[in-house]
Amino acid sequence: MKTIIEPFRIKSVEPIYFTTKEERKVILEKACYNPFRIHAKDVLIDLLTDSGTSAMSSSQWAGIMQGDESYAGSSSFFKFEDSVRSITGLSYIIPTHQGRAAEKIIFTILGGRGKCFISNTLFDTTRANIEFSGAEGIDLICEEGKHPTIPAPFKGNIDVVALRKKIIEKGAVNIPMIIITITNNSGGGQPVSMQNIKEVRKVCSEFRIPLFIDACRFAENAYFIKQREDGYADKSVKEIANELFSYADGATMSAKKDAFANIGGFLAMNDLDLAIRCRNLLIITEGFTTYGGLAGRDLEAIAIGLQEVLDEHYLEYRIRSIEYLTNKLIASGVPVMQPAGGHAVYIDAKQFLPHLPVEQYPGQSLVCALYEEGGIRSVEIGSLMFGKYDDSGNLIPAKMELVRLAIPRRVYTQSHIDYVAEVIIEVFQKRNELKGLNITEEAPMLRHFSAKLTPTTSAN
Ligand SMILES: *Cc1c(COP(=O)(O)O)cnc(C)c1O
Repeated sequence: MKTIIEPFRIKSVEPIYFTTKEERKVILEKACYNPFRIHAKDVLIDLLTDSGTSAMSSSQWAGIMQGDESYAGSSSFFKFEDSVRSITGLSYIIPTHQGRAAEKIIFTILGGRGKCFISNTLFDTTRANIEFSGAEGIDLICEEGKHPTIPAPFKGNIDVVALRKKIIEKGAVNIPMIIITITNNSGGGQPVSMQNIKEVRKVCSEFRIPLFIDACRFAENAYFIKQREDGYADKSVKEIANELFSYADGATMSAKKDAFANIGGFLAMNDLDLAIRCRNLLIITEGFTTYGGLAGRDLEAIAIGLQEVLDEHYLEYRIRSIEYLTNKLIASGVPVMQPAGGHAVYIDAKQFLPHLPVEQYPGQSLVCALYEEGGIRSVEIGSLMFGKYDDSGNLIPAKMELVRLAIPRRVYTQSHIDYVAEVIIEVFQKRNELKGLNITEEAPMLRHFSAKLTPTTSAN
């Protein structure tokens, strides 16, 4: 088989900035060992997130010039609505400025004390919006999804047996919706199978609970289904996406992921009463129903991006690039989540740094080391992001200590990725020298964005 090449050529380039290791040491200290606090111009390869960092296509940029900025009834909105509907088949499409804005609206309406939302894994903003409403969020990932380094085809699946049990325990009336995140971002970008979605649909119908899809990476998930699930090899990704959404009552999406847009999102559903309530809240918090916090040009970019992402040459290249980096790391013994996910490579920091206890945030220590060594910015998905405290102030750690290297869409070439692998392997070779970190300052919610940390004084 020949090399799978980038299915685009480059029309416009953006410089990246080099720093020395000595400079990066100072930058890291000034940023209190939290790369969210580092200026982007001090980062060489930015793998902090794949969110809003995509390179837009020439057609998207052309669409931007055609943006209709009318306050009400903008033609860009109708293009956006058609594009979303052609994929999801959902009736009411509500634009929002990001995924979390859609979450804020839906959970404000359906959440509140005593309510409970069950998911394969809730993404951090989703969980935060649920908890902020006073409700509870419960993750019921399947057994395979709990073991980062053991490969399985659909590690994003929800545990359907546990789901049924939990619904009976909590009472169906207290569960306003079940949420399936595709692909499962916080669980390693692992896909959910069509079979699993169908089974969840059955449970939802039985208990009369709506099923919503957190659709940020629906195209990557659909491509995995095509590759890995029986009966889908000859279907187009678009047909697979259509089928997948046909089981849902609604969806939230951040257009900053699979829609190749730099901003945007939507909320979509089939229930008219619910849509009316959401729109009323949208008008207070986001904007009128035909723009929802976005410029007309953003709606154009999203409408076009949603169709472009269905291109299977693109998806082949996309999924292959993640697999390429994952396999390079495996070959050098670096403990990574297997198999490769859809949008990112996940290093298992617990295995990478077994000498650091979870209270010293091994994931964050690795994140800092990758920056210092090679100017690479990544993000901890572990106890800094998800840890809580018990009543006596002891850390309740996250289930896993991961470091995510998210790959922006259509941005970096193979040589960038080769460089990233070299840096990680170099850090792996001197992993015993890495120190842990203590938190010195933190916010009550989503603390990883702003927390300040300091290295522990000894290696342990
Ligand atoms: C990014 C993301 C969100 C939130 O979207 P924003 O546009 O960042 O607000 C929600 N769910 C998942 C799975 C995501 O990846």
